[in-house]
Amino acid sequence: MTKHIFVTGGVVSSLGKGLTSASIGMLLESRGLRVRMQKLDPYINVDPGTMSPYQHGEVYVLDDGSETDLDLGHYERFTNGPLTRDSNYTTGQIYLSVIEQERKGTFLGKTVQVIPHITNEIKRVIHRLADDDVDVVITEIGGTVGDIESQPFLEAIRQFSLDVGKEHCLYMHLTLVPYLKAAGELKTKPTQHSVGQLRQIGIQPDVLVCRTERSLSRDDREKIGLFCNISIDAVIEEKDKDFSIYEVPLSLVENSLDELIVKRLQLPAKSLDLSPWRDLIHRLRNPEHEISIAVVGKYAKHSDAYKSIYEALDHAGMQHRTQVRIGRILSEDVEREGPERLMGAYDGVLVPGGFGERGIEGKIEAIRFARERKIPFLGICLGLQCAAVEFARRVVKLKQANSTEFEKNTEHPVICLLDEQKQITDMGGTMRLGAHPAQLSVTSHAFDCYGNEVVSERHRHRYEFNNAYRHQFAAHGMAVTGTSPDGELVEILEIPEHPWFVAVQFHPEFKSKPTAAHPLFAGLIGAAIEHHAQRGEQRASINAEIS
Ligand code: GLN
Repeated sequence: MTKHIFVTGGVVSSLGKGLTSASIGMLLESRGLRVRMQKLDPYINVDPGTMSPYQHGEVYVLDDGSETDLDLGHYERFTNGPLTRDSNYTTGQIYLSVIEQERKGTFLGKTVQVIPHITNEIKRVIHRLADDDVDVVITEIGGTVGDIESQPFLEAIRQFSLDVGKEHCLYMHLTLVPYLKAAGELKTKPTQHSVGQLRQIGIQPDVLVCRTERSLSRDDREKIGLFCNISIDAVIEEKDKDFSIYEVPLSLVENSLDELIVKRLQLPAKSLDLSPWRDLIHRLRNPEHEISIAVVGKYAKHSDAYKSIYEALDHAGMQHRTQVRIGRILSEDVEREGPERLMGAYDGVLVPGGFGERGIEGKIEAIRFARERKIPFLGICLGLQCAAVEFARRVVKLKQANSTEFEKNTEHPVICLLDEQKQITDMGGTMRLGAHPAQLSVTSHAFDCYGNEVVSERHRHRYEFNNAYRHQFAAHGMAVTGTSPDGELVEILEIPEHPWFVAVQFHPEFKSKPTAAHPLFAGLIGAAIEHHAQRGEQRASINAEIS
């Protein structure tokens, strides 16, 4: 019988519920259990695909092409169970499905209501993950207890334990225990109120995870336990980590959270083996090199917009025992101030994906700089498209080259829409999405990185490289080194004459893990280390000449 853990959050948003849920998943997997992760988001959009990164951060894409919440990125980085369309539902999807059923006549004669129809649908999507080969489903409820739109989800998980039996469910609530400087103490009242709200709707949390900047004393825990009706051993401290998110599981283990869950749910768990994870933290804490990468994007100051990119750079750093300093550079600043001033000190350049015209010329300038100065470069999705435009304009001398995304009637549409995309009018879920195979040329940096001729990577874009320009590009020194298996779609562009210039139409960042850095990110960091060393040698020889 599959057991269920429900994770809710209270007091404030942004407490790191996703990270805590992912860490719990990782700990349970490390105890030999088969875990599935799920996020239920109370907003009304059917998926986050149409939301601005300022609203929602990155849209995380799965193999099956679903566009999901960025917490699923944490799940995939920390755990190994498969994630699919069933791993992320929103209020919009739940209602859409109920309304479709209503139109078909499924509820004929009945009034369709939040309870039971919407709550039944929510319970159905939770059940979908429970299976004979799954020990635990962890379902995280987005938002904060008390939000109006969370109500049907909380009601559904309350009913869930009545349906399957209380002993099969565990409710975990994540709260904030703030430190008040003026009073010189931690304050438990917000937590008491938050649990009070949960209990009002019939959910008594079994475990409280308390985010805090200072350690909770035994008195604090006793007080929280007493007022929240929870035994003291189930009041777990999760202290802020300023070093790395990958330390969160270790701190939960210090507080015996894994043991508590295993006992409460009577799970058939092995003893915990965290040695690979500890090794990773050790490498992270003891780097041998330090390099810097400029990430030139439209949302550079908004870390959540490029979450997986930053994580993947860190993973590659861990693999190379290298501290990667990431410079978040706004492409519009490059337009204003020029690349020399902003990017001169970096050992590598990465231009990530994106949509819309703002900041495009800055990205193109940044790519020119990396190409001409022979700085290692990785372009991702829009990054590839900008690299193609830059190369066309500067090297192939097609001065008017552009993507039709930015200039519909450009004289040289080196990036354009395929016919099948031209007919599409709906915005949601209509891009080229999800995993597609790519065939690599064996004489390429990409092949050197992957060590494989066929790879599978995730996509999220409408525009493609225009095949009419392939020959001209090749003649001028930009090679197509990866295509779709039929050879029709360009997946990778490289400049063989450059030490490391790789641009990909897909999103490698979605497949990088702390325990297995993505080959292309590892390649970029390897090249950046070399670039850094060469620059050091150059500096040393200049210094020697001077002295
Ligand atoms: N805007 C580009 C396209 O739609 C690139 C998308 C992306 O970078 N994810 O093709």
